[in-house]
Amino acid sequence: MMDSRNWFPTIPPSRQRHFLASQRHAMLIEINGQKLHNFASNDYLGLSVHGDVKNAAIDAIKNEGFGSGASRLVSGDDPVFHAFESELAAWKGFEACLLVGSGMLANIGLLQALSDRSTEIFADKLNHASLVDGCRLSEAKVKRYPHLDYARLEKQLQQNVNDNTKPKRMIVSDGVFSMDGDGADITILMDLANRYDALLIVDDAHGTGTVGQDGKGLIAQAGLSGHARLIEVGTLGKAFGSYGAYVLGSAEMIHGLRQRMRTVIYSTAIPVSAIAAARTALDIIQTTDVVQQLQANVAYFLECSQHLQKMPSQTAIQPVLLGSDEAALNRAKYLRDSGFFVPAIRPPTVPEGTARLRITLSAQHTKTDIDGLVQALTL
Ligand SMILES: *Cc1c(COP(=O)(O)O)cnc(C)c1O
Repeated sequence: MMDSRNWFPTIPPSRQRHFLASQRHAMLIEINGQKLHNFASNDYLGLSVHGDVKNAAIDAIKNEGFGSGASRLVSGDDPVFHAFESELAAWKGFEACLLVGSGMLANIGLLQALSDRSTEIFADKLNHASLVDGCRLSEAKVKRYPHLDYARLEKQLQQNVNDNTKPKRMIVSDGVFSMDGDGADITILMDLANRYDALLIVDDAHGTGTVGQDGKGLIAQAGLSGHARLIEVGTLGKAFGSYGAYVLGSAEMIHGLRQRMRTVIYSTAIPVSAIAAARTALDIIQTTDVVQQLQANVAYFLECSQHLQKMPSQTAIQPVLLGSDEAALNRAKYLRDSGFFVPAIRPPTVPEGTARLRITLSAQHTKTDIDGLVQALTL
């Protein structure tokens, strides 16, 4: 007999996590009563605990309340949404922006809204789960190309152009890839999109606030912000230290998406406090050296960790390859016993035989934290 208590028999009991984030030290976490240095957070700049970010949220709650009460299309809209959409679009170099509940909702709603049965999507095999699910929920035909294999992608595009009677085409890729830390080549993808008459959708959730001197991410770094064939997606949950997500594109595209994305129309608007926090975070990213601090930590880690078996990443995501699940779990346990929280990432999240420790660096880690981690990784 099955009931709600034995439906998921193989899932182990969950860990008790308690975050010890404080204004002074964002990168501590308590798990099962043990205090650990946290190398597993996407809070790349430590802004989730920045005093100004917290105060912006508190002020918004005091002035306006907490929940938005309805979808933006009904009565949940607020001038703060529009102000931040303009600011984000200007910062990123796009004409327009649409705020969405989360990155997961953004990608699911976006790919669904853009596709019909005559659409063909070409997707990197290592794309984030939200893009994978967006593809599934769309009516499009989906072809996946091996990770970063743009020669294969071009062959697939060529075949499609020859075979079909004018389908709409979209190339869909992560910017910085979440499990490997490597990046898409935006210049090549844009060139393919131009030559094969396709839209290019890039989710740079991990590149924003981390890549490029200004933290604008891979697309700005490639000098392609605002291109008419391009849509950029990102989250407010990572470097912005808040919650929510955004879609950037031409004014016409964003106008259309506002009316069409089901995850916008049929979902409660983000709390205004989360937007107020993200606005302040954007201001800090633009006016302080916090992005440079993160990049200095990445450079320091790369320098100290040359003897480790690392995957080729230059970003704040630094995977150490262990291979077998057991090796990854054992090493993660050893690190925990040494005072460092780094998760073991195993199949099916990553391909078989590539179990790894996924280290994420933050601007708030100290050199001492990083030295300690590298020492614990060196057996
Ligand atoms: C984290 C992530 C998301 C999900 O964003 P949320 O705001 O956390 O839902 C989407 N895409 C990519 C590439 C991500 O890394």
